[in-house]
Amino acid sequence: MSGGGLLVSKLEVLERHWFNHNRDPFKNKGLFEHQLKELANVDEGILTQAVTILSGEDVFPKLKKLLQQCTALKPQDNLGSIECNSCGSMGLVLGVVWTFEGTHMDVLSYDQKVRPDGNYTTRIIGRCKCENGLAYQFVKTNIMGKLVAPDQYLIDGAYKNGWDVNFEATMAAQYFRKKAREMRGESLAKGPMSGTINKIIGDADV
Ligand SMILES: [Zn+2]
Repeated sequence: MSGGGLLVSKLEVLERHWFNHNRDPFKNKGLFEHQLKELANVDEGILTQAVTILSGEDVFPKLKKLLQQCTALKPQDNLGSIECNSCGSMGLVLGVVWTFEGTHMDVLSYDQKVRPDGNYTTRIIGRCKCENGLAYQFVKTNIMGKLVAPDQYLIDGAYKNGWDVNFEATMAAQYFRKKAREMRGESLAKGPMSGTINKIIGDADV
């Protein structure tokens, strides 16, 4: 199973959810802790899937939406049962995507030209070749049903860093967001994840 009750890793999953939508948990500890508390009874593996599915949303999903997504993902026996260097144990493969006003473009290299506008986030590009991916074999969306390998630059980065490829994708999205903020001339002096995200964070919704 996906190792359910570990609060620390559930916290990491929720952090990823916030970062995916350019929200800084450290600047909104109260709201973040409230959400973490509300998610206390949600299985970590389910939360991970829900966060991944919602990562493509342009607007920061409300807590209610996150909880609904968790409910919709009913546990599957063979999900998250084995460790996998590509997907962790998620069964789905993540890529990095640049989104801007409803359009998107896949990021296929760390050397790709960084765009200052829009947003960088992770998105599901298909299901993993491993056993965990079998859970999505008959899912009707064409993305999740598609058998894919992760992008090579993410595989290389993951190998170098000693973590799984999906985590590398999350870190890569953060890297590109940081570069984009630097290009927009936003100060990073206040610490990680500062900049416009702190201006828009006020509309974070419970
Ligand atoms: Zn896998």
